[in-house]
Amino acid sequence: METRISDLLGLIFRFPAPWILTGAGISTESGIPDFRSPGTGLWEKMDPMEFASVEGLRRNPRAFFTHGRETIDTILNAKPNTGHIVLGHLQQARLIGPIVTQNVDDLHRRGGAIHYYEVHGHFRTASCMSCRNQVPISEVVNQVDRDQIPPVCGYCGGILKPDVILFGDMMPADYQEASLLASRYQYIPKLMIVIGSSLTVSPVNYLPLEFNRIAIINNTPTPMDYKADLVLRQQIGQVMGALWDEILALNDGKAPEPLPYGFNFGHLIAYLDNEMRFLAGQKTRTTASKESLARHAGYIKADLEAAQSIIQAFPADDRQPLEKAMLQFYLAEIERMKKEFASWCSETGIEPNAEQSRFSKLLQDNFKDNVNAFLTYTDETEPLPDLVEHFAACAAGCFGFWSFSNRIMGQPLPPQEEWENFKKRANDHRVEQDLDQILKLFSL
Ligand SMILES: [Zn+2]
Repeated sequence: METRISDLLGLIFRFPAPWILTGAGISTESGIPDFRSPGTGLWEKMDPMEFASVEGLRRNPRAFFTHGRETIDTILNAKPNTGHIVLGHLQQARLIGPIVTQNVDDLHRRGGAIHYYEVHGHFRTASCMSCRNQVPISEVVNQVDRDQIPPVCGYCGGILKPDVILFGDMMPADYQEASLLASRYQYIPKLMIVIGSSLTVSPVNYLPLEFNRIAIINNTPTPMDYKADLVLRQQIGQVMGALWDEILALNDGKAPEPLPYGFNFGHLIAYLDNEMRFLAGQKTRTTASKESLARHAGYIKADLEAAQSIIQAFPADDRQPLEKAMLQFYLAEIERMKKEFASWCSETGIEPNAEQSRFSKLLQDNFKDNVNAFLTYTDETEPLPDLVEHFAACAAGCFGFWSFSNRIMGQPLPPQEEWENFKKRANDHRVEQDLDQILKLFSL
């Protein structure tokens, strides 16, 4: 078990801020039944078309709302378990990115998550099926308890339906938002960790395809196991609890402070890890000519050297123990990849060209991706202020890291006007924090 937890933590370090996709499996430990588990799943006992479809609601509202009332009770009484709580901690520490959940139980929010997408909706509110008027779920509960079935809208008398997705419904805006945001990041290889989902419900099961790497924690096999870098078939609470213990151990027993914006050393490792995987695949192929392989290997050689210098140059003395441990991990990863690289060269007999590292271009592209992610949120008519601030800070961190890396590599500093343009846009969108402050992490 321990080695597998270390493998999971290694993936999280190597592919920074991985996205999380959760399904019913994470909430069964909170007493919420999984719809699809053989033998115990809710749908083994009842017909989903009756209790979970728009058609069923219209045909037999009494059956729908009587069952729905029980579900609401189960959910309101459920408490977040270790899985939810650890994800909340990890997100607040900026060790993971957004959480996409298929669950409607509100347990990520209640478990401390701050950035999540509820792609199947939630039970906090209900909306009128005729005029879209939205009310708190208590309105539905009160009416049902007074035997007002179906519960109706105070404005127009239309049926009030909880804001969860039923068969026959459109996907909520959260789904489009999550897919759009995931597609914004193109240059740094990215990881999705699937937790407690059987990956059989579309369209959500397509989301992992946006990611270069997948890890899966689920107690039954999924159709994507064959693509995954890591599959853990264990209790989710147990895995997440052990993962958090390992993080605490690396941080002298203390819960970590959020990683500073721009602490992006893992991006270099993610990129190199992907490049090394590409190179390994070239052994058996004959299509790539020796010349182009020698050039490609030359870039990787230069990138490995550059990554090592950049990480070693970072003034880490005052950083928290977790960050120091991460930097040590990255240096060890570079050593591992250098060895692999050397044996690849001797096996193939290819002599790498002398090339310059591609990191400057990569980090520039990554800065642009992050500015675009930030602009995704400012495009919304009702942006979530916290997320706008967060994405602006991420983009600023990317600029800082890019500048720092170029300085260490002896390459020209990023154009100051790129920074000024970004700050102007942030200002136009009423970003309040001091973005220049974020660059101070890298002042030598
Ligand atoms: Zn209405």
